[in-house]
Amino acid sequence: MTDVPIQQSPSGSRGRYDWTRAELAELLGDQPRYRVDQVWAGLYTQGGEPAEWTSLSKTLRARLSDELSPSLSLAAESVSDDGDTVKWLWTLHDGRQIETVLMIYPDRATVCVSSQAGCAMACGFCATGQAGFDRHLSTGEIVEQVVRARARAAADGRRLSNVVFMGMGEPFANYDRTWAAVERIHDDLGLGARHLTLSTVGVVPGIRRLAEASLPVNLAVSLHLANDTERNELVPINRRYPLAELADACRDYVEATRRRLSFEWALIHDVNDTDRHARELADYARPLRAHVNLIPLNPTPGYRVRGSSPETVRLFARRLGELGVNATVRRTRGTDIDAACGQLRATHATAPTSGDPTSGGPTPVAVGRRTHG
Ligand code: SAH
Repeated sequence: MTDVPIQQSPSGSRGRYDWTRAELAELLGDQPRYRVDQVWAGLYTQGGEPAEWTSLSKTLRARLSDELSPSLSLAAESVSDDGDTVKWLWTLHDGRQIETVLMIYPDRATVCVSSQAGCAMACGFCATGQAGFDRHLSTGEIVEQVVRARARAAADGRRLSNVVFMGMGEPFANYDRTWAAVERIHDDLGLGARHLTLSTVGVVPGIRRLAEASLPVNLAVSLHLANDTERNELVPINRRYPLAELADACRDYVEATRRRLSFEWALIHDVNDTDRHARELADYARPLRAHVNLIPLNPTPGYRVRGSSPETVRLFARRLGELGVNATVRRTRGTDIDAACGQLRATHATAPTSGDPTSGGPTPVAVGRRTHG
């Protein structure tokens, strides 16, 4: 992996958002220098297809359409019944599939992007974890998800304001490509660092690197349990980076960056929603002054346990408050369109494993399907 430039997909292909400015300058070596700026503006300011970049000649547009191929081709799109959540399943050049979710709010829009095709972390309740790891995404494969979502938000009259790395994959297992994507999203798509959130299952070296990073992005840690015995089972990476080590990295991160940390906690019936679990979480989160986001579990085919009832969710949040921890209950979005991590791909898989590159060819657009809701 180390000999592949980070802008390229590990399989060697290069999509249009994988090109650096220097590489584009080389590609356009026969053109006046300002062409590079025009192409860059086409990619990042305008978006869309090279054919639409009318500041360029027809000949050049045709050439760019050939040479700057997109990384993502649409396999399926689902729109929630209320139209506020759009989920895409994309097929990559090698047949791997990833998901992107756009959440539209009255005044803004947030996109949830994938950083890997599949995931090696194997969290029991997560559809992506259940299907296993395919490969890392390239920087361009990540950035293009944001560009596509921005275009869709704009078509709905919304500005894409936030990016969360909470789709498929573990961003800190693909740190360099992910970070290059963060810089591109910040520098070239113009989103503010405070509107970008990296979410990790608790990969300690990634947290330590982020503490030194140049942009003050947000960090979310998917905790789900605050004792090692139970977390080892639900979130296997805990065996490698146990809770004490994770807390040390989180403390150093908060001290170095002065940023607020958040913990994600998917509430699962009897697994992590009892009073004892609330106390363990509070003891863990309080010294770090972490904010807790409670997410009712989205059901997935490979995990038989239910999410907590709305009443339990409410009580758990109140209990955390009494214990001195700030908690927000997140609305689940798009349950009717399989918007939980990895679900859309799992539903669309035709072969035994969804990671099989031959599985899941083009699928008709499905609007408002209700599979797990
Ligand atoms: N690997 C990273 C980012 C991807 S998962 C991480 O673990 O943070 C993004 C978030 O979705 C995580 O908080 C994860 O725990 C959560 N998630 C995964 N499957 C879920 C499900 N079925 N219901 C609710 N949340 C889920």
